[in-house]
Amino acid sequence: MKQVNRRNFLKSTVAAGLGSSILTPDLLGGKQPLENNTPALAPPAQTAAPKKVIVAGAGIAGLCCAYELMKRGHEVTVLEASPRHGGHVLTVRDGLSDGLYADFGAENITQPGYELFWNYAKQFNIPVLPYPKREKILRRINGQFYSEEMLADPVVLKKFNLNAREIKFLTQNEWPELPLLYTKPYLSKFKDEYQPFGVGYDHLDNTPISEIYRKEGASKAGLEFMGGQETSALFELWRQAILQLRGLPLFPKKVFRLQNGNQSLPNAFAKQLGERVKLNCPILKINHHAQGVTVRYQEFNQEKEIKADYLANCIPLPAFSKIPVEPALLPEKQYVVDHIAYDSYARFVFQASSKFWQKDNLSINMELNHPNIDAIWQVAEEVDTHRVALMGMGPGGTTPQQALAAFREVYPGKQDTIEQVLVKDWPREQFAFTCERLNFPMGSLKKLWPHVLTPNGRIHFAGAYADNLNWGMEAATRSANRVAQEIDQA
Ligand SMILES: Cc1cc2nc3c(=O)[nH]c(=O)nc-3n(C[C@H](O)[C@H](O)[C@H](O)COP(=O)(O)OP(=O)(O)OC[C@H]3O[C@@H](n4cnc5c(N)ncnc54)[C@H](O)[C@@H]3O)c2cc1C
Repeated sequence: MKQVNRRNFLKSTVAAGLGSSILTPDLLGGKQPLENNTPALAPPAQTAAPKKVIVAGAGIAGLCCAYELMKRGHEVTVLEASPRHGGHVLTVRDGLSDGLYADFGAENITQPGYELFWNYAKQFNIPVLPYPKREKILRRINGQFYSEEMLADPVVLKKFNLNAREIKFLTQNEWPELPLLYTKPYLSKFKDEYQPFGVGYDHLDNTPISEIYRKEGASKAGLEFMGGQETSALFELWRQAILQLRGLPLFPKKVFRLQNGNQSLPNAFAKQLGERVKLNCPILKINHHAQGVTVRYQEFNQEKEIKADYLANCIPLPAFSKIPVEPALLPEKQYVVDHIAYDSYARFVFQASSKFWQKDNLSINMELNHPNIDAIWQVAEEVDTHRVALMGMGPGGTTPQQALAAFREVYPGKQDTIEQVLVKDWPREQFAFTCERLNFPMGSLKKLWPHVLTPNGRIHFAGAYADNLNWGMEAATRSANRVAQEIDQA
């Protein structure tokens, strides 16, 4: 069991704050599963007292927040450090042939889940496509590939030294759902998805979730697979409860993406915002006081300054922490800025001249579990060509040659037809060097969560990190709507 791809498992089950009073159900799009024909968001009423707002960062959160503020009649300026908008939502065509494209950053959405995202796609008439990357997954465990059928076969499961309960559970459920075998009875206590405290488990912030699995009877092999030795049990139970409240499994099998790439949505926001978005304008310094904010930024070689009533910070915290803020943030807010942790890794795109895996009678949706390549799957399947684009991921610093060599080392078929490899090395990005918010470690939920969503004077905080579940694009749009509402109503 050693090589079970825990990073992938945790990422996929993790990926995607304070009292419920902050977020109203209508703002969140409701908790009910929404169909593709979800009605578009109603246009908000124009304000009688327009405010001047600077939005820091033109990722999906910044663009969405600015768009919502603009719709309400406020005067917004979005300052973006890099020469493009979209941040971690990045669709790339350059270097790929035959009209192929790939999302180097945010990739998939779910349903239910991503209600605001679906609403915006509908509003801007952006088609959503099914994305079969999680169908018929082949998992490489201890150097051997297993199909989904094999991993539901009790004879195979016995060989992993799982206990009888685990074996029975896994014959009926997907592998990534295994934690639910032990946590299910805990989850119904959480009634408000923005409030993890006060349900009787506050003390579990100091316990690792692995301890709950162990206490509830997990085998050594099961524990190794589920991990969580560092993760706050309260955080993880709450996270699983949020998914349950939203009607989602831990690992949604059916996922979707936007036709022509997910950047279609940031592009649509940016189009509406027009010249309000200023690219190549890194923020250098923020001053704030009871009546407003002053932001210094750079445009070409010149330093410039804008004054405004509010600042909506939509820059991920590690990048935000590099910007001097005067006077200093409140200690509890600074603690959040300094301690919310992120992962960061590289994306690979392999272009091949054919669907070579079909000759080998294999699925290309694979968890490869190699130190240099975690997984592989097909992207842009709808493009009408014999060529294919395959997406992989691995640690930062992996070269195209290393990524290809790793794939070829473990690919279980005879021969591939890969003709080129592109790598996007996120950790090396100057302004967007993080990827996704990590689980909260033991003892940190009580110090972090009560201060993640709160404004610090005239500075408000949105972004994929600033919501209860770190499901990137949905968390970004939810938090953006929250901040637009906070500033509008301030
Ligand atoms: C490889 C990868 C895979 C992912 N997969 C998924 C997925 O499948 N589904 C999903 O929903 N999410 C996914 N995500 C997460 C998702 O992409 C992000 O959570 C989301 O895009 C973050 O949006 P944001 O607006 O909060 O931040 P960002 O996109 O980081 O935007 C912040 C912006 O601030 C700018 N900035 C930084 N410093 C400054 C400065 N000093 N001055 C001005 N501007 C500055 C940056 O250049 C950037 O444009 C993935 C991310 C990555 C990298």
